[in-house]
Amino acid sequence: MKKLNCKNCGGPMTIDPSGTTAHCRYCGSEYVLDHRDTDYYRDFYERMRGFLSLSSDGQERRRRSDKLWSGAASEVFECSDGRQIDIKNMYTYKDRDAAVYTARQNIIFRFDAGNSDKADKFRKNVSSVDYPSADTRNLSDFFPRISGGFELNDGSALLVVKKSEDEYPLRLFGTLSGRHTAWLIGRMENLCCVLEYNSIVHNDFGPDTLYIDPYDHQASLYGGWWNAVRNNTRVNDRICTTRDNLTALRETAANVLGFASADAVRETDDIPKPFADFLRSAPMSNAYEDFAYWDDVLIKSYGERKFINMETDDQHIYGKGK
Ligand SMILES: [Zn+2]
Repeated sequence: MKKLNCKNCGGPMTIDPSGTTAHCRYCGSEYVLDHRDTDYYRDFYERMRGFLSLSSDGQERRRRSDKLWSGAASEVFECSDGRQIDIKNMYTYKDRDAAVYTARQNIIFRFDAGNSDKADKFRKNVSSVDYPSADTRNLSDFFPRISGGFELNDGSALLVVKKSEDEYPLRLFGTLSGRHTAWLIGRMENLCCVLEYNSIVHNDFGPDTLYIDPYDHQASLYGGWWNAVRNNTRVNDRICTTRDNLTALRETAANVLGFASADAVRETDDIPKPFADFLRSAPMSNAYEDFAYWDDVLIKSYGERKFINMETDDQHIYGKGK
């Protein structure tokens, strides 16, 4: 994916899901893309979204993956011990704390010298995640597994997290249909249940930290772990609670559907009323109840026939774990 840099400060810009505007997280600049850029990003999102409706036939999947990665940019990191790390980078996301590179089988987080404590926080928070003993779904697959750490010669720290080849940042899919967003919500509720189980407020749950596998319809929470805190922790005069995860879930879903915020979600031909109501609603008191609420909304929205396997034993598992 080509990079777009801010005309004001030079920082990499984030393109909104509709592919029409670019936003700079550094200085707050925003500008409307011209038609060439717009066409490029729409095209890219279109192609990514296309993956969602394709079967996961191994050979075909490999071929598409090769094609996609053949256009990836090369990125070289110089380590303090003289080694070089060379990666193929599909997409860079940058915020105040880190630059995040999406490579084929890894996600690389780069923290500036002044932010290297964030790499430690990431490790610490991830290592504290525990899973219910009745975890039949290998929930740990959907949380970061750290495969390495490096110091670069400019003093910055690299943290390498494993991912599967077919996992991409949710951001890269642009806007999704109601039904695709519905499966995503089920997966996000699942992730929020694990956070609830661990009393973790993630604080950075969204399109840049969630990675999805479009073939298996899975979602993983790989990014932003340095901002995670325990339930009921005060951060900047605000008490963070695990309900914040569920608020972020609604904002993420609204964003993916193309709305500016959850409050702005309206019923459409594609988004039945119970679905729109859910996104505008205040979260339930915890993720287990919120997941049950969502399951009910899903049936009311799209009928008994579940278009995707929703793993109905989740609440059973979590109910026991609590
Ligand atoms: Zn800027």
